[in-house]
Amino acid sequence: MSKPLLVHGARQMLTLRGASTPRRGGQLPDLSIVESGAMLIEDGVITHVGPSRRIENLAAARKARELDATGRVVMPGFVDSHTHLIHGPARLADYEARILGRSYAEIAAAGGGIRFTMRAVRASSAKRLATEAQAHIATMARYGTTTIEAKSGYGLDEATELRLLRIAKALDGDMLSIVPTFLGAHVVPPEFEGDPDGYIQHLIDAVLPRVAAAKVARFADVYCDTGAFSLAQARRYLTAAIEYGLEAKIHASQFAEIGAAALAVELKAVSADHLEAIGVPEIEAIARSATIATLLPGSVFHLGLTRYAPARKLIEAGAAVALATDYNPGTSPSCSIQMAISLACTQMRMTPAEAIAAATINGAHALGLAEQCGSLETAKYGDFLVLNVPDYRELPYSFGINHVAMTVRHGEVIYCDKDDPIQ
Ligand SMILES: [Zn+2]
Repeated sequence: MSKPLLVHGARQMLTLRGASTPRRGGQLPDLSIVESGAMLIEDGVITHVGPSRRIENLAAARKARELDATGRVVMPGFVDSHTHLIHGPARLADYEARILGRSYAEIAAAGGGIRFTMRAVRASSAKRLATEAQAHIATMARYGTTTIEAKSGYGLDEATELRLLRIAKALDGDMLSIVPTFLGAHVVPPEFEGDPDGYIQHLIDAVLPRVAAAKVARFADVYCDTGAFSLAQARRYLTAAIEYGLEAKIHASQFAEIGAAALAVELKAVSADHLEAIGVPEIEAIARSATIATLLPGSVFHLGLTRYAPARKLIEAGAAVALATDYNPGTSPSCSIQMAISLACTQMRMTPAEAIAAATINGAHALGLAEQCGSLETAKYGDFLVLNVPDYRELPYSFGINHVAMTVRHGEVIYCDKDDPIQ
């Protein structure tokens, strides 16, 4: 049992205290800020949050280790609810080709795209993939993330998909909290070239039962779009996944509106992710549902596109909006959710407060973890950040730099920009 930890003097403590349901509409920007805020963490769990003068006088606070956050912002650790963590080498040739105007099809024909990553991942040892993932995890911690989702989807055969999920599960708790997602239906692998129905049937008959039996994934995800899996294929695959006890997520409406967001609502998916091309009826449907609308501006930015998801329309319709990095080597090679927040503000017209809530408490809801993380409230884990700024609005305002002074998960420091100042 470690000594309690007292964090005190925070100029702004963003607690995000509130209802146990996802934040919608006018609730989204309510950060429940405590000025001169303090928090006590015992055995990795928050036991008290409030004004410093009250918390400092608690008996347990007097014998605690102290973290003086005077003049700075303290906030919940980021919950990055959409990443493709384990992915093999960078796709630098694709990046350059795209800048020079090559199309997605030309890049794929030249040996790039998701299949490039698939070949590299299939050829890598589990040890090498895990070592590379640990480096990405350390970067995420440095940029303030304490919980992530990690998708498979670069193996596209039974053995490699299971290997990716086992690596993600084994890394859970090492530095970050990690929730694995089975994304077998990412693209059609070469073994099923031209036969997406056959591949979906193979996933249902052979792979899903193994994934479920091995208990290595909480969610199942499918890439449903033109050029990817159809609505009927996605419905078949996710219906089977739900029968195996997995919860559904969908890569929906990224390039075209083919009804994927409505399918997410129909199947009671935990989240529908991307939504750059979502239509008005689908916005209304998702707003009336419990499905979280997870927006991923990093991929739009990296692809050099201009159509971002209609965040304002979603928020105004009453949808529960979350923000994530979509960290992956093809379309969003950035671990920085701070950058996603900046993009959300300038490109999607979310306010800094809305974007921060979307990247913390609503991200936690998108992973079914809102009882454990995403806000600074008693009985939740002591997952928090100290930022080198006095006002949270500086986080997106000064874009592209790291504002994190310290990242703490379960009351333990996982990143610090100086020598550990806890006394
Ligand atoms: Zn993705």
